[in-house]
Amino acid sequence: MSPGFPPRIVLATRNEHKIREILRICDDWPVEWVTDAELPNVEETGRTYLDNARLKARAAAAATGEVALADDSGIEVDALGGGPGPRSARYAGEGATDLANLEALLRALAGVPRGGRTARYRAVAVLASPDGGELDAEATCEGMIGTKPRGSGGFGYDPIFEPLGWDRTMAELEPVEKDRISHRGRALRTLRDLLAGG
Ligand code: IMP
Repeated sequence: MSPGFPPRIVLATRNEHKIREILRICDDWPVEWVTDAELPNVEETGRTYLDNARLKARAAAAATGEVALADDSGIEVDALGGGPGPRSARYAGEGATDLANLEALLRALAGVPRGGRTARYRAVAVLASPDGGELDAEATCEGMIGTKPRGSGGFGYDPIFEPLGWDRTMAELEPVEKDRISHRGRALRTLRDLLAGG
């Protein structure tokens, strides 16, 4: 994809939490955001975050004829060999709630001491153009898994994820604090730099 911001970008996600975070992080992009596009149903059949983000961005670009942005993300726990990873949204089963996933992760780590609870969030953002052009960016946010949920901000695993260097969980951070250090914030700022041609 050639450098320069397109006039409009379709958000290729129906996840309200992701939409809110992406719009917040990208509020300095000189584009019109389309958040209510008719999105095709995409099965996340890829093995990697990049595969899945591409599937979602390409399908939305093809369906709408506009440049589309997708995020695929997850949490990687070292004691679980890097899992659940790209399967984070479905860790407790297909259609599982955030709470069920978080509780399943706490159960899987029951008895694991603090030093063995290291983890990271990872996000891959893909911007796909209907003419086949593409840009992608990946970023992580290091931290550890706590033993009980704290805080009501964010979504997903945030109440049990303690970012490195903070004595609060991700759900206890202000939105602006989360965006500054988060995997999603970092990946999207890299994408913005690529778009701006730098
Ligand atoms: P997907 O990218 O739609 O496949 O799902 C990403 C899943 O990873 C979410 O449903 C959450 O479980 C988890 N996840 C990704 N980013 C975050 C985050 O910023 N906070 C908490 N959980 C996240």
